[in-house]
Amino acid sequence: MVTFVGAGPGAADLITVRGKNLLETADIVIYAGSLVNPELLKYTRDGCSIFNSAEMTLEQVIEVMETGERQNKNIVRLHTGDPSIYGAIREQMDLLSEKGIEYSVVPGVSSFCGAAAALKAEYTLPEVSQTVILTRMEGRTPVPEKEEISRLAAHQASMVIFLSSSMLERLSDKLLAGGYSPDTPAAIVYKASWADEKIVRTSIDRLSTAAKENNIAKTALILVGHFLGDEYERSKLYDPAFTHEFRKGSK
Ligand code: SAH
Repeated sequence: MVTFVGAGPGAADLITVRGKNLLETADIVIYAGSLVNPELLKYTRDGCSIFNSAEMTLEQVIEVMETGERQNKNIVRLHTGDPSIYGAIREQMDLLSEKGIEYSVVPGVSSFCGAAAALKAEYTLPEVSQTVILTRMEGRTPVPEKEEISRLAAHQASMVIFLSSSMLERLSDKLLAGGYSPDTPAAIVYKASWADEKIVRTSIDRLSTAAKENNIAKTALILVGHFLGDEYERSKLYDPAFTHEFRKGSK
């Protein structure tokens, strides 16, 4: 059996209980070495075989899984954050299906949640934004034209930009072209929940400068939007005058 497990954003105690249990009983762990905190490997038992997928191709990863499966081993594929976001798990699952190997997926705390926690922020503030856009700049992996940052920016929703901290000048230009004003609040969160986490609050026009000043060039998320500002409306749910299924309002 192969299980894809979300490792969480970094801190070893931010993996789920289910994920930790699986690591503790794994015979083989293949972890995404560029971003998974190696401290998590301490949960594995002596004799567990550990592979770093940063040095492997898709075919090599599948080969390890196939060999393990033939020997009836418990195999954990450990991905950073939540595996469903830029995890490249679909291609692995499809190859496993072709080979008739069973698998399941255990979710994890994505870094976009880790970053919000680090900032003590809420993405969905009443009268500010009720939508979160998770996206990235085009790198060697193309982004469909309809999802250009400038087009997404036109919504003025809360935005989280992955995999883009080395292209911040271009990112700012695209956000501005989409209609955000230069002073729109933004934040750079480097290695959320790791011991060397850094949080930089800035504005869209200063993203690149702020990253340089803080020596941040990778493993960071860029958060953009007025949810990082000071103005919002109180929620209806906890408004004393509001009646709902579980509580009668005062008026
Ligand atoms: N599946 C992961 C994302 C993998 S893509 C998740 O759910 O978080 C890798 C990108 O995620 C990095 O380039 C960076 O933009 C972001 N990232 C991953 N871990 C991070 C962390 N702890 N802090 C900030 N950004 C992180």
